[in-house]
Amino acid sequence: MSEVNPYQSLRTQIDEAAEYLPLSEGQLERLKTPERVLETNLSVEMDDGSIEVFRAYRSQFNGDRGPYKGGIRYHPQVSRDEVKALSGWMVYKTATSNIPLGGGKGGIVIDPNAYSEDELERVTRAFAKELTPLIGVDRDIPAPDVNTGQREMNWIKDTYETLENTTEPGVITGKDLSSGGSEGRVEATGRSTVVAAREAFEYLDKDLEHATVAIQGYGNAGWIAAKLIYGMGANVVAVSDSSGAIYNETSLDPVAVKEYKRETGSVAGYSEAERELTNEELLTLDVDLLIPAALENAIDESLADDISADVISEAANGPITPKADDVLSEKEILVIPDILANAGGVIVSYFEWVQNRQRFYWSKERVNEELDAMIVEQFQNLVDAYEAQDLPSFRTAAYVVALQRVMNASEQNGTWP
Ligand code: NAD
Repeated sequence: MSEVNPYQSLRTQIDEAAEYLPLSEGQLERLKTPERVLETNLSVEMDDGSIEVFRAYRSQFNGDRGPYKGGIRYHPQVSRDEVKALSGWMVYKTATSNIPLGGGKGGIVIDPNAYSEDELERVTRAFAKELTPLIGVDRDIPAPDVNTGQREMNWIKDTYETLENTTEPGVITGKDLSSGGSEGRVEATGRSTVVAAREAFEYLDKDLEHATVAIQGYGNAGWIAAKLIYGMGANVVAVSDSSGAIYNETSLDPVAVKEYKRETGSVAGYSEAERELTNEELLTLDVDLLIPAALENAIDESLADDISADVISEAANGPITPKADDVLSEKEILVIPDILANAGGVIVSYFEWVQNRQRFYWSKERVNEELDAMIVEQFQNLVDAYEAQDLPSFRTAAYVVALQRVMNASEQNGTWP
């Protein structure tokens, strides 16, 4: 992976779109800069009685359109700039999706595999204690991200509710169904990634039936995308995770691969695969659709030269560097930007928040239908902006639409002294 700073990538992406908008220098800087970033050091007792200190962050990037919203990531490479970038992408994701939320993001510098469940609970609760004054159902609503899920969200909710002496399930989304989660949330990111891909194929007049698909990353987003697109008739010819990549010309069976990964911890070594690939080989396969679903900067400019896919739907956040983006635009590869493609996660988080506030819960069918309709509508908005202004890419179109929406809200709110 390249060393590109994701916060610089975000700023570049905004600069590129800002060329098509009437923004002053001050307005532009505001749209590129987080409002505040919490940096905290969590002192946590380990199972053996020792104390370990973990650095953690929460960035609240922009709240002009509603409460800050965004996940919490556990990874050894979490950094202040990564969290800032991810929180900014959330602002433009909620704006592209046209849901009434702003953007935030958090993370702890930790390799969760190196700790027991009890230790992870104490780390999570220590972070939740630090977050409590900053979060709230109308203030900032965290959610899961890489290496966090329902378990961590339930710990955060419980810590917040205990400290605040309240019941407020809407303070966090991505919860288990039994504690106020939404139907369809677990599948939502993978679902929007494939719904957006389906719309792109229709736009290009391409058939999804028997289309070939390669997917980098086989976690929550990647494996669900694999399962759903396979269900739409496409052939999932290659998938990977951090231990390696596997290939099968006719198609892998995503559910069987998932079961194998559950048993062994990785997709590598799966017996029904024809051969193993490197992650780089997977990304450069000649496929109809490529879904990067791992981490940011997976595709840099030198790799972009070798990309052969016709469409890329970004399940991951920021998987393509800005320079790689330019190369892909020149090659006329249609990239559905992360801020639309993976917006399903935050859209269904929004549905979860709405249901929590109403204390009235929807069926899975309703959740999936409303999500599908929102992606279809917003994809069309991007097409309209892309064609009307002859924009260089769908990413620029998404940022033009999103920046305009944030700017409109900001102008209506006015500036407070
Ligand atoms: P996850 O932890 O469940 O899965 C990540 C996967 O990526 C794992 O299979 C891991 O092995 C793999 N991976 C890591 N490094 C890799 C490498 N170098 N090469 C190949 N595979 C590698 O995380 P997730 O929730 O699926 O998130 C994946 C991406 O999707 C992230 O960028 C995240 O920000 C984004 N995303 C997730 C959600 C969500 O709701 N889960 C929402 C929006 C965006």
